[in-house]
Amino acid sequence: MQIYDLIQKTRRKEILSPEEIEFLVNGFTENQIPDYMMSAWLMAVCCQGLTDQETVSLTLAMRDSGDCLDLSEIGQITVDKHSTGGIGDKTTLLIAPIVAACGGFVPKMSGRGLGFTGGTIDKLESIAGFSVEMPVPDFIRQVRNIGCAVISQSGNLTPADKKIYALRNLTATVDSIPLICSSIMSKKLALGADCILLDVKCGNGAFMKTPETALSLAESMVRIGNLAGKKCRAMITDMNAPLGHAVGNALEVQEVIKILQGREKNALSDLALELSAQMLELSGKGDLPTCRKLASEAVASGKALEKLASMIEAQGGDASVTENYNKLPESKYQKLFKAEKSGYLAEIHSEKTGLACLELGAGKTADRPEIDYSAGIVFLHDIADQITQGEALAVIHGNSESLCEQAEIRLREAIRITEQKPEKSPLIHQIIS
Ligand code: URA
Repeated sequence: MQIYDLIQKTRRKEILSPEEIEFLVNGFTENQIPDYMMSAWLMAVCCQGLTDQETVSLTLAMRDSGDCLDLSEIGQITVDKHSTGGIGDKTTLLIAPIVAACGGFVPKMSGRGLGFTGGTIDKLESIAGFSVEMPVPDFIRQVRNIGCAVISQSGNLTPADKKIYALRNLTATVDSIPLICSSIMSKKLALGADCILLDVKCGNGAFMKTPETALSLAESMVRIGNLAGKKCRAMITDMNAPLGHAVGNALEVQEVIKILQGREKNALSDLALELSAQMLELSGKGDLPTCRKLASEAVASGKALEKLASMIEAQGGDASVTENYNKLPESKYQKLFKAEKSGYLAEIHSEKTGLACLELGAGKTADRPEIDYSAGIVFLHDIADQITQGEALAVIHGNSESLCEQAEIRLREAIRITEQKPEKSPLIHQIIS
């Protein structure tokens, strides 16, 4: 088999066999296929796409490039959730304890921030002492005992995805449906949960900018999950504005604690409750209305907050933050961001907000590898709220005055105030089973 011929076949939209795709994936993972050849093939996929069967073959070859976990020791139906990534998306920190408090079992391996989007693992590391690394047997034991564990991708899981993803990031080949689908589903299948809920983000702060592309990705992932014998469902959810009010690691953990304490309710809490209900229904805890009730009661009774504390404690973190979130890192400066005119809040552009937070230090950049866990932005209003000139719309948290001033300039570009009251985008666009 010649890699040159495989590149040419995909470029001409001819179909590759499962063996040819396995040859590509294994050859690249084992350093026998150089980056320039794999880049050419990835670019051909980006331009010409892959058939469903080719996408299945690619996903399975990537899954089998490393270890697959055996979760049978948990002895219960397990349910995983994956978000395709967005701004202010801290739903994992809510759904894991909510589902666990309702008797579900959530083994979760999460990622770090990527580009302008935040990562669950960075958020958890803003809690003093919290460890995101754990041997697999301990991970399985924690899920069995507490009902949830959230760690970073560990062990030799999908090494092909690690290598291919790094190459895609450098070669403008990230936003391809078959490549995103195989990247996500190979990791989900290697983790091995019985049920998978996919939260496919759609909008200006997501990889999928339109409902059509989000639907195509969601359908493709659900099809592969089902083919692999998993109970799989996808929800297409809005990412045209940051999810919830806080963007930035410790600020997002603070928002999660406020929701679980019953002190805050917003689009984030609504979405987290619906995701939790869907996960509970997938794992056989009752029909959807029953599962919605279970999820709401877990928050109202404080049981979900207790689960979060148990999870933090089990992973070496300071669980007292769940009682007193002021123990989380706090920035030196807090600058009010004020409205320049009166009207209605029509837009908080997610990607631009993400970039403002990145500049404040909330994420890693090539020239600044350290994360400032305290940095970020907290919005004080929701889309469609009426605004008066001079009123504070947000609080910018940063560790130098100049960083806060730069973030203010960026944030100005993200905010749009209109005379007409805007229509709110629906939070959940569609559910695909
Ligand atoms: N998340 C992933 O894990 N992979 C992608 O390709 C995109 C988002």
